[in-house]
Amino acid sequence: MLELVEVQSGYGNKLAIKGISLEVKEGEIITLIGANGAGKSTTLMTICGVTPCRSGKILFQDREIQGLPADEIVRLGICQVPEGRHIFPQLTVKENLDMGAFLRTDREGVKRDMDYIFTLFPILAERRYQDGGNLSGGEQQMLAMSRALMARPRMLLLDEPSMGLAPLVIRQIFEIIRQINEESNTTIFLVEQNANQALHIADRGYVMENGRITLAGAAGELLDNKDIQKAYLGI
Ligand code: ATP
Repeated sequence: MLELVEVQSGYGNKLAIKGISLEVKEGEIITLIGANGAGKSTTLMTICGVTPCRSGKILFQDREIQGLPADEIVRLGICQVPEGRHIFPQLTVKENLDMGAFLRTDREGVKRDMDYIFTLFPILAERRYQDGGNLSGGEQQMLAMSRALMARPRMLLLDEPSMGLAPLVIRQIFEIIRQINEESNTTIFLVEQNANQALHIADRGYVMENGRITLAGAAGELLDNKDIQKAYLGI
């Protein structure tokens, strides 16, 4: 569904991604793990067209998307939930969700998807008329994911959804990511520092170090890998 071929990107004269290649198949959950500053967020930003791809190719459903404007990439079906959520704090929960659907014209479908989101996250239904800024960190993460889902993406890019959340809330968020993948057949590209939780819901994983992919494999294999255990799982 998505393929990166020798992609480079960066900031100013610094290359943050140094020629990475990876692929995501339709229906999969894949995770990109790595330490702080490895280049994970830059990878997502480059796929979304926010950080320009300097060389290489990005193919989405066999179409080259590097160089397309970010809104066109959203229209094609790729939607990102950025690190730090970035919800609209002064808009209500419902208004935040409406913003996610602003490119859509199928009113019935939008209503159906909002109802689905309220069954997925009952707390958001309860708080639909409260300002986003008054939600807890976990609820804001749920809202950010829901807002992205309102665009009906084929592929959801999630950047550190567990960041700053309590362990119980993290488990809940990861369980819901799995549920979204299964129920709405949304392909998931998950960037995480919480490698343990991410590998437990993913089909496959890639390890990134210093702008390069250094290891790839089935999630179970990576969980059993001694180097991964030592470097990322604290075992
Ligand atoms: P983190 O988990 O801390 O976000 P990451 O793996 O997502 O880490 P990136 O945020 O992609 O890593 O950063 C990769 C490199 O690019 C780092 O050296 C970082 O300092 C640099 N970088 C990231 N954003 C910018 C920016 N806006 N301007 C300049 N350099 C940046």
